[in-house]
Amino acid sequence: MSAEILNGKLLAAEMRAEIADQVAQLKEKSGITPGLGVILVGVDPASTSYVTAKERACAEAGIHSDDVRVPADTTQEEVLKLVHGMNDNPAINGILVQLPLPKHIDESAVINAIAPEKDVDGFTPVNVGRMMIGERCFLPCTPNGIIQMLLKAGVETSGKHAVVVGRSNIVGKPVAQLLMRKTKGGNATVTVCHTGTKDLKSFTLQADILVVAAGWPGTVTGDMIKPGAVVIDVGVNRVPDETRPRGYRLAGDVDFESAREKASLITPVPGGVGPMTITMLLYNTLESATRMAEEATQ
Ligand code: NAP
Repeated sequence: MSAEILNGKLLAAEMRAEIADQVAQLKEKSGITPGLGVILVGVDPASTSYVTAKERACAEAGIHSDDVRVPADTTQEEVLKLVHGMNDNPAINGILVQLPLPKHIDESAVINAIAPEKDVDGFTPVNVGRMMIGERCFLPCTPNGIIQMLLKAGVETSGKHAVVVGRSNIVGKPVAQLLMRKTKGGNATVTVCHTGTKDLKSFTLQADILVVAAGWPGTVTGDMIKPGAVVIDVGVNRVPDETRPRGYRLAGDVDFESAREKASLITPVPGGVGPMTITMLLYNTLESATRMAEEATQ
């Protein structure tokens, strides 16, 4: 069997075109241009390229982005001041603080400072709690992007066994949470694996839907996949490769070649989950602007 490719780039382009239409409608109806405030501390190459990609996507969708890039030695107080300024700025509907932050800054203090109604990454405790109990909230972008991909590809999740490799706050835990919701794109029986899991393969082999977010290339290989499974590879790893102009290539957490011989559907890296993550950020920013426009007319 050679798996069909679940093309995130294509799905993301379709969704972004719909978002751009809705942004234009919102502008026409209420005169509001959705705005995303972006804070980047330092010059980490991966973070810089993520932020640049997010800003480009905003511009293409007609969303205004307010980009603040500060040096790596910026103090926590100064970063908090930037967040508070964006909280108070009515032209900004969503705030994105690019992670990771330099070590001298307490990430949770900065995340907690973001007003929940502008937390378009869905990282604040208020949004996480609302997601957990099923209240209206901003869903975190990568996990929601994965669910949207499964829905758009027509993958049935209800009654299926979904195995998630990874339990981080930004991917593993929330995607497990979304997969178990009693709703479309959820209703799966979910197992979460991590470094404390004994015999990872015995779990991955049971997965109808396998989501891998471990942060290490080759964490899952073809022999660990149940024939016909749907494989979502969240990993983005820079693997040294002298044949490439940049000296590296991007690889997921799943060994693509062996996995595609077992899976029925698989996401590539790049071009899988990544473009969907940015798309859900645009979606949440539009949603926030729409809510604020509704509130203004009430
Ligand atoms: P993270 O915070 O490092 O978490 C990795 C998780 O995987 C941890 O829970 C860890 O377990 C678990 N793990 C690591 N090795 C494992 C193994 N051999 N067996 C079982 N579990 C293992 O990483 P993250 O932020 O969730 O990101 C994961 C990957 O996704 C990274 O490659 C990242 O770059 C990528 N990512 C991509 C996007 C996107 O948009 N495409 C977005 C976010 C992240 P412990 O908890 O026990 O340590």
